[in-house]
Amino acid sequence: TDPLLQVRNLKRYYPIRKGVIARTVGHVRAVDDVSFDVYPGETLGIVGESGCGKSTTGRAVVRLEAPTAGSVVYDGTDIAGLSTAKMRRLRTELQMVFQDPYSSLNPQIRIGELLAEPLIAHKRLDRTAAHAKAAEMLETVGLPKLYLNRYPHELSGGQRQRVGIARALMLEPKLIVCDEPVSALDVSIQAQVLNLLKDLQGEFGLTYVFISHGLGAIKYISDRIVVMYLGKVMETATTAEIFAQPKHPYTEILLDAYPEPDPRLRDRQRIIVEGDVPSPANPPKGCVFHTRCPYTKDICRTESPPLADGVACHFPLEAAGR
Ligand code: SF4
Ligand code: MG
Repeated sequence: TDPLLQVRNLKRYYPIRKGVIARTVGHVRAVDDVSFDVYPGETLGIVGESGCGKSTTGRAVVRLEAPTAGSVVYDGTDIAGLSTAKMRRLRTELQMVFQDPYSSLNPQIRIGELLAEPLIAHKRLDRTAAHAKAAEMLETVGLPKLYLNRYPHELSGGQRQRVGIARALMLEPKLIVCDEPVSALDVSIQAQVLNLLKDLQGEFGLTYVFISHGLGAIKYISDRIVVMYLGKVMETATTAEIFAQPKHPYTEILLDAYPEPDPRLRDRQRIIVEGDVPSPANPPKGCVFHTRCPYTKDICRTESPPLADGVACHFPLEAAGR
């Protein structure tokens, strides 16, 4: 099968301006040369600390953000440079679910209007037909129809995220970018929302890009994983491969910080990561991870390792036999 989405050499730089004439004095490299594929029907997880560029990447995928360079080929069309008019048709196929359902839902508008609005705007349905579909969709995401008349603040966090998901589904999308969709929810609610996403994927044949800083949700829902650090891909592999044998030192550290379900492994020594994440406005030379990597050697400080065989490291862990 061909990929549904091909991201190639994606860059998103933000200018840093100073002074009264707003002279550009540098750039924040939010996303710096990122490439990956997403296949139809799969979930690609993107994991990394805050500021690693995962949200910006997700926003570029649905064209909420125009890239500085690179291509985002969706179903054969490069949407990176597409005009708004040409984007209109594809807009329905690419949707996004956000972290905080409350801030992404207009508090003045009843749930029914919120859900019906995209159908009226994009599919020219009349109000009655759009509301009928909205009622159906509420039931699909596990909420009673009578919630059509409620306001977002009358719902719990989990219920609001169900509405956020329902809204993303109204236009029958093919690909949904979920940006930290469960991170703001109570732990007890997180699994319910993840299971809902899984069920909907099966029911509607959806493809997901699932973004999270937490490995738990990523492991639960993803078929394959992209690990990002300071705007770059550190490693990409299947979920099983990543958890069985991480090849990148950063992935190893992420896994190390992740609660170990196997009690026999719980006592092994933890790797201590030194220092804070450097600024993407002034990333380290060479390997961007070299200031925090426990295995740094001279070459790491000068040469940026290319992504080869799914890992961007001069000394991948497997090869080093660690
Ligand atoms: Fe660590 Fe060097 Fe690999 Fe970077 S290239 S992750 S510094 S070993
Ligand atoms: Mg984010």
